[in-house]
Amino acid sequence: MYPLIVIGGGASGMAAAVTAAACGLRRIVILEKLPRTGRKLLATGNGRCNLSHTEITAADYAGSVPVEGILGSFGDVSTFFGNLGLFCRTDAQGRMYPYSMTAAGVLDALRLRLKADGTQELCGREVTALIPQRGYWQVQTAAGECLAARSVIFAAGGWAAPKFGTDGSSWKILEQLGIPLVSPHPILCPVGTDPALLRQLKGLRVRGSVTLFDGDVPVCTRDGEVQFTEKALSGICVFDLSGQIDPMRTKAFRLSVNCFPECDTGETLARLYTCQAVRPEASCEDMLTGLVHKALGRAVLERCAVPPGMQCSSLSGRQLAMIAERLHGLEFPVTGTAGFAQAQATVGGVPGSALGDDLQVKRYPGLFVTGEAVDVHSVCGGYHLHWCWASGACAGMAAAKLGREEQA
Ligand SMILES: Cc1cc2nc3c(=O)[nH]c(=O)nc-3n(C[C@H](O)[C@H](O)[C@H](O)COP(=O)(O)OP(=O)(O)OC[C@H]3O[C@@H](n4cnc5c(N)ncnc54)[C@H](O)[C@@H]3O)c2cc1C
Repeated sequence: MYPLIVIGGGASGMAAAVTAAACGLRRIVILEKLPRTGRKLLATGNGRCNLSHTEITAADYAGSVPVEGILGSFGDVSTFFGNLGLFCRTDAQGRMYPYSMTAAGVLDALRLRLKADGTQELCGREVTALIPQRGYWQVQTAAGECLAARSVIFAAGGWAAPKFGTDGSSWKILEQLGIPLVSPHPILCPVGTDPALLRQLKGLRVRGSVTLFDGDVPVCTRDGEVQFTEKALSGICVFDLSGQIDPMRTKAFRLSVNCFPECDTGETLARLYTCQAVRPEASCEDMLTGLVHKALGRAVLERCAVPPGMQCSSLSGRQLAMIAERLHGLEFPVTGTAGFAQAQATVGGVPGSALGDDLQVKRYPGLFVTGEAVDVHSVCGGYHLHWCWASGACAGMAAAKLGREEQA
């Protein structure tokens, strides 16, 4: 019998195994369904792995699980990785990366330690069922293997990015045990809108701010680069807002893009008057090129029902005011969020009510849940991976304690 089997060789599973071994547990096994562990980790942060953030508190997380104690006992991520021989660096926004700026360096640090500890990574092993026995667990795989373990850490992730092994199918294992689950929906993903509104904007990137409205109520504003695609608005600021869209009533929401968040509409109107005075003979679309990308200017003019070829000296004060207003609030109705295939994370999972402080399932002593399988989510910036390290370490430590108690 193994003292600990970890299901899933992703961020939280590897953090759990490393921590359990650091607490003295040996003969740990990781069962990973893909041919290699850490596939998703390699894709994080565009291959650079934004592994944490300098200022993380419980207030940065949403969901039903109280995370404060878990984050507090995990402490400093630099110490966790420092103990694995990996140095970190921080950018101007407080996002933390490996010093080498390569996700492969993070995966190497984890895997080298797993190897040194004698932890086995058994890849190509999809776990299909967990059967509770008196004092231990039977872990069944798709290939028909049946392994026994004193403790099990379920670190099989959520539903987002199925190409990395996480299509939500593993949640059935928890369902079969009668463990409650908050139903999943995708977050950190592009937000769909009417493609007709994007015809001119497709391929454009605009620095500004985006506000999500629920009806007439502003829900949240994020600054950053908005990317316009064929059917959706994308970019980190849009990703961050995607989690706030209620999937049951997407049509109630809209996004409003402010191209000049650093000034008010009055200042933009003054600039438009200057542009008009300097280039009176220019067309309206050429007049706007002193302020914004031509395609964006054209889209704004279309929203104001102003012909782009019209001489700009003919623009009335009312029309200029309307253009200024649109530049500060270019609206896009929400038609839905992109699905799990394009999402970076999952809302939902095992709720706090089913878990103890150490992420052990209350109904099933010896079974722990970590990472994205837990009902915890956040925004872009390293917060998800930080939760994975912290939750993995918490469960790994508790599983090691169970193992030691058994030996005593
Ligand atoms: C493209 C992309 C970029 C991202 N960038 C960042 C970033 O820079 N910073 C950040 O904080 N977050 C980022 N995230 C989110 C972050 O990567 C995830 O939240 C995190 O990896 C989840 O970790 P996890 O341990 O819960 O599960 P995962 O890392 O998803 O790992 C779960 C593992 O379990 C395996 N598995 C699933 N089912 C079974 C089964 N039945 N049996 C055996 N194995 C199974 C899977 O194959 C997978 O390897 C990004 C996500 C994506 C998709």
